[in-house]
Amino acid sequence: MRLSKTFIKTLREAPKDEVAKNGALLTRAGYIHKEMAGVYDYLPLGLRVIENIKKIIREELNSIGCEEISMTALQNPEPWEKTGRFSDQEVDIWFKTELASGGELGLAPTHEEPITEMLKSYVSSYKDLPLYVYQFQTKFRNELRAKSGILRGREFLMKDLYSFHATEEDLDRFYAEVEEAYRRIFDRLGIGDCTHETFASGGIFSKYSHEFQTVLPVGEDTIYHNADYSIVLNKEVFNDEVLTDLGAKDEKFEETAGAEVGNIFKLKYKYSEPLGLKFIDEDNTQKIVYMGCYGIGVSRLMGVIAEKFADNKGLVWPESVAPFKYYLVGIGDEGVKKCEEFYSGREDTVLFDDRDKRPGEKFADSELIGLPTRIVISDKTLADGVAEITDRKTGEQRMMSIAELFEKF
Ligand code: ATP
Ligand code: MG
Repeated sequence: MRLSKTFIKTLREAPKDEVAKNGALLTRAGYIHKEMAGVYDYLPLGLRVIENIKKIIREELNSIGCEEISMTALQNPEPWEKTGRFSDQEVDIWFKTELASGGELGLAPTHEEPITEMLKSYVSSYKDLPLYVYQFQTKFRNELRAKSGILRGREFLMKDLYSFHATEEDLDRFYAEVEEAYRRIFDRLGIGDCTHETFASGGIFSKYSHEFQTVLPVGEDTIYHNADYSIVLNKEVFNDEVLTDLGAKDEKFEETAGAEVGNIFKLKYKYSEPLGLKFIDEDNTQKIVYMGCYGIGVSRLMGVIAEKFADNKGLVWPESVAPFKYYLVGIGDEGVKKCEEFYSGREDTVLFDDRDKRPGEKFADSELIGLPTRIVISDKTLADGVAEITDRKTGEQRMMSIAELFEKF
C-alpha cells in the first residue's frame, strides 16, 4: 500500500475524548476512527489487523473440524423468551428496536439461542452429532461503561463457536481440544506467554468455566495467580472452597489485572433443554443434546495486543498480526527509484511511505504505525550498495546489501 494514495492520516495528538491507550494510539496511527463512545470504524490498516487475527483463529478452528457460518444480528425474541434471556432483568445489555409491522426485535449480544433454534432443523439423530459451528460476528451490547477504547465496544467483533454432542464424555473431549486450539491461537498472536487459562464461575450445569486472561494493567478483571501461573483464578471464584477443590489451599497467590480475551463454557442442557434441541440415540430413545460455547473477542484482541506491546514511540505489532511486514522509506532521487523497484510486486507486504514529507516525519510515523521492520534506501546507502534495516521492537539497525534485500524480503 502507498501512503500517498490512502485517505488515512496519522495524528500528532490523540483526540481529547479518547482516554484509553489502545484507542488513542490506534486512532493516532490511523487504524481506527471513533464514532462515539464504544463505537469504532476500522480503517485500512486496522481492518488488515482484524483479518490477520481472524485468519489465525480460522486456521486453528478448522484444524479441529469446525465449520464456519454467518448468522444474522437481528434477533427474533421468541427463542430468547424461551430461555428467559430477552427480559431486561436477565440481560441488561440488549439493544432493542420496534418492527415497522409491529413487535420487537433485538440486536444479538451473543448467539446461543438462535443457533440452538436453527440446528433443530438439522439435528435429529445421533448420526448428526457431534457438530462444531462458529462464526465471526458483530455483537451489540449496551455496555454501561465504554471507556476502554476497543477493549469494550458497544458494537464489537466476536468469534463464537458452539459445539453439539450426544454424550457428556464427547463434550469433555472436544472442550479439551478447544483448550489446545486456544493455546495455539494465543501463541501465534504473540500473547501466549502472558495469556493464562483462568478458572471462572460456571453455571447451573458446570462448576467452572474457563477464561483466557491476558495480563494487562488496564484489564477490567482481577485475577489471582500462583508463582508460575499454573493456577489462575478470577476474583469471582477466588475463595477457600474453590482453592480446596483445586488442591491449592497452601499455595501463595498474587493479584493482578487481566483482560478477558476468550471464554469457554460447558453449557450442557442450558439452552438445548428449554429450546428443545433433541436427537434419537442409538438405543432408539430421545435425548437432549449436550452443548458447549467458546468465545474470543476479536476486536478486543486487537486492542490488547496494541496496548501490551506499545512503547513511548507508538505501536509495536507482532509479525503475525501486523498489517504489513515492512515500512519502506526512500531518500533522494536514486533512493526513491530503488524503493519503487522494490515495492513493485510486494504491494501486499510493504507499506511504502512515498508521501511528500521530510524523512524525520516518515521515521516518526514508521514508529507510530509499528510495523516489524523498516527499510530505508537513500542515495547515500545506495552508494555503498546497501539498505538500512531497523527492527521496530528492539530498535536494532543493520545494513543489508541491496541484492540480499531483493532476495530475502
Ligand atoms: P466481559 O466480562 O469483559 O464483559 P463477557 O464475559 O461479557 O466479557 P462473553 O459474553 O464471554 O464476554 O464474550 C466472549 C468474548 O467477547 C469475551 O471473552 C471478550 O473477549 C469479548 N467481549 C465481551 N464483551 C465485549 C465488548 N463489550 N467489547 C469487546 N469485546 C468483548
Ligand atoms: Mg460482559
